[in-house]
Amino acid sequence: MKNILSSTLNTIKADMDTDISSPGRYRLLRRKIVSLMALVTLLPLLSLAGINYYEHQNTMTAEIQAPLRALVGKAKHSFELFLAERISAVSFIASAYSFNELSDDANLQRIFQVMRREFTGFVDLGLIDPTGRQITYSGPYDLVGRNYSEQAWFQQVQFKGTYVSDVFLGFRKFPHVVIAVRHTTESGQSWVLRATLDTMHFDRILAAMGLGPGSDAFLVNHHGVLQTESRRYGRVLDKLPFELPPTNFESNVQSVREPDGQNVFIATAFVADTDFALVAVKPKPTAFSTWYTVRIDLLFIFVSGVVIIFLAVYRVTSLLITRLQESDEQRLGAIHQMEHSQKLSSIGRLAAGVAHEINNPLAIINEKAGLMRDIMGLRPDFPEKEKFARQIEAILRSVDRCRGITHRMLGFAKRMDVKIEVLDLNAVLVETLGFLEREAEYRNVELVRELAPDLPNVPSDHGQIQQVFLNIMNNALAAVPDGGRIVLRTWDESENFVAISIQDNGCGMSDETAKNMFEPFFTTKKEKGTGLGMSITYGIVKRLGGEIKVMSKLNEGTTMTILLPKHSVEG
Ligand code: ADP
Ligand code: MG
Repeated sequence: MKNILSSTLNTIKADMDTDISSPGRYRLLRRKIVSLMALVTLLPLLSLAGINYYEHQNTMTAEIQAPLRALVGKAKHSFELFLAERISAVSFIASAYSFNELSDDANLQRIFQVMRREFTGFVDLGLIDPTGRQITYSGPYDLVGRNYSEQAWFQQVQFKGTYVSDVFLGFRKFPHVVIAVRHTTESGQSWVLRATLDTMHFDRILAAMGLGPGSDAFLVNHHGVLQTESRRYGRVLDKLPFELPPTNFESNVQSVREPDGQNVFIATAFVADTDFALVAVKPKPTAFSTWYTVRIDLLFIFVSGVVIIFLAVYRVTSLLITRLQESDEQRLGAIHQMEHSQKLSSIGRLAAGVAHEINNPLAIINEKAGLMRDIMGLRPDFPEKEKFARQIEAILRSVDRCRGITHRMLGFAKRMDVKIEVLDLNAVLVETLGFLEREAEYRNVELVRELAPDLPNVPSDHGQIQQVFLNIMNNALAAVPDGGRIVLRTWDESENFVAISIQDNGCGMSDETAKNMFEPFFTTKKEKGTGLGMSITYGIVKRLGGEIKVMSKLNEGTTMTILLPKHSVEG
């Protein structure tokens, strides 16, 4: 158990460490955690339920068995008492009267009358001499002169002194037992007194046990032959359809499976001085009916418990996994962003170096050109003054433009301060559009403006915002075919942001391109593109505290949306 747990935990840990982008990982992890938690919670519940079931069944069994055992014990006692009384009665007569007195028919009749009055159940009484011949008889049959010497019971009574027969159906077809007692006088003379009992009284004792419906009680002999009628197994002298469980004189209870498949409790006990066993049968389903109803309740509670635990485990795990997934994704996003900004910053450093290097010669050119102009001004006779002055102006203008470029390059490298001013973004957008209107007109590209008239002014850097717009619009213009359409929109996005979107119906981007478009030097335009536009744009927007989003579908078009903060983020 401990091993299973620790190994499952280990695989879960290993799963959490494996490549976080591997698909199906979270599903696997969820399945493992759910099964582990279910195992940990359900196992004790299951074992508890199992133990409870076992204990309860034991108690119930004991509770059913004890009364059954007691009942059989008591009834067996009644049988023994009943038979002992009858045997003593016969025995008493045998010793109280002499052979001669008993062999007198009138005497025997009288004695039998008294006996019948005092003890219920006797049917007849007869005297048999040592040779086995019936001397006298009092009862419904004419048995005088019969010889019993060859019969087994006669030998047994000679040998044991008393004898109780199995039940048999007499001439009148109802069950009897025979009680025989041998008497020996001091002079060594011996005879046998034989009486017959009807077994109605047996049935009375069995009925007095008060067994419930479906239950049964009967006497059976050693060979499994019924001695009284049974509700379940047939009439007197029928054979019991199953082997009697091991029996002794103490009543005991066993669980037995009947031939027809029903499980029953059987209590058995031998009746002393006879060949009989007393048997009581109680079927298990009725014996267990209370337990069955209890078990259905328990089962219901158990099943709902399991379901609730499982649902809870599943919910908690799902929550956990979702959180894990989210945090993994955030981490991944952060890593990507960091990589990107690192790339940007190294390019920025490169650009800054170049700009710095160029600035020095530019300053010299500027200075020298200024000097030339001054010298020219000091000399009124300078030939072709006009022409030279124009050239010098051109040099100075170019130097100025170069300065602008280096200034911007330095800005890209963050070396330059961002110059924040309050801007009307609609105006900047329109102004920037001016650069492209000629090309658009030439290529018959429709430029649509849907600008929010009440767009709040935002604090931002004019030059950089213009560059952002220009880069995006350039790409849009490059993407649309002749006769395409570009839509510019602005709107008040939220409490903190305004939004600008530039939508084109151009070639769009594949997922791969969209993923890489902000990478420096990534371009799909071969030599015509530098791959720097979007990466610079991204850097600027981030620095200004804004966001940039791309929505693109291959062959349908692209929408770039920029969010810019309404309130200054720096300082
Ligand atoms: P360049 O324009 O020099 O290629 P950019 O950084 O401006 O570099 O853009 C990178 C790439 O992003 C482009 O080569 C193009 O594949 C893709 N791209 C950018 N904007 C769009 C657009 N509006 N429509 C289609 N593709 C675009
Ligand atoms: Mg570009």
